[in-house]
Amino acid sequence: MAVDPIEKKPLAMFRPGARLLSTGPPGCNLSCSHCQNWQSSQGAPPTVFRTPEELAEVAVKSSDGIAFTYTEPVVWYEYVMDTAPIVRTLGGIAVMVSNGFVNPEPLKRLLTVTDAWNVDLKAWSDDFYRRNCGGNVQPVLETLKTIARSGVHLEVTYLVIPGENDSEWDWDRAALWLAANCGENTPVHVSRYFPGYRQTRPATPVECVFRAARVFNAHMKNVFPGNV
Ligand code: SF4
Repeated sequence: MAVDPIEKKPLAMFRPGARLLSTGPPGCNLSCSHCQNWQSSQGAPPTVFRTPEELAEVAVKSSDGIAFTYTEPVVWYEYVMDTAPIVRTLGGIAVMVSNGFVNPEPLKRLLTVTDAWNVDLKAWSDDFYRRNCGGNVQPVLETLKTIARSGVHLEVTYLVIPGENDSEWDWDRAALWLAANCGENTPVHVSRYFPGYRQTRPATPVECVFRAARVFNAHMKNVFPGNV
């Protein structure tokens, strides 16, 4: 657990200046080659159990609410469903940082107890999701649409990995789709990758991140270069 600025989630256009108790039990439903938190997402480090009531109390005493992050919060769905409403009852906010790989019904229930989401759109192609993450893109697109239509605040992160998801055509398609399905005002974080876990490609050149941001910016109004 750590108290982080909300901008670090990243959420750029929701409660700026807020600080959130950030937590993530082990586990993920994807297995990204570049995972920065792979020890937790793919392994089982030692943890300390907090009841939903205990965690909610710590969250509102130490910060403005809670962020379920670091690993994949939808795999501890029941815990989020139990904890987020208590945080909100105590006056805090509840934020999800997710890969978006979740079925529609649990997603709809999660949206009733949370205030804001940052969802990864890891690439425009199924091929990337299959090779690098063990998933596919369509469920993520459905999640993005559902959140955008729910009224819950949505931001999107696109991590640019050189040689993997750095085609300008793909960036353009992704931005066009986001504008049409989530709205052109949805904030997009175009982020710089660093090698880690099983991914050994060198870090994204800063120029490439800004080039991607310009391409997204042709269709989306709020584009934020990240990790630069
Ligand atoms: S979805 Fe996120 S937490 Fe899960 S493996 Fe991929 S990068 Fe790691």
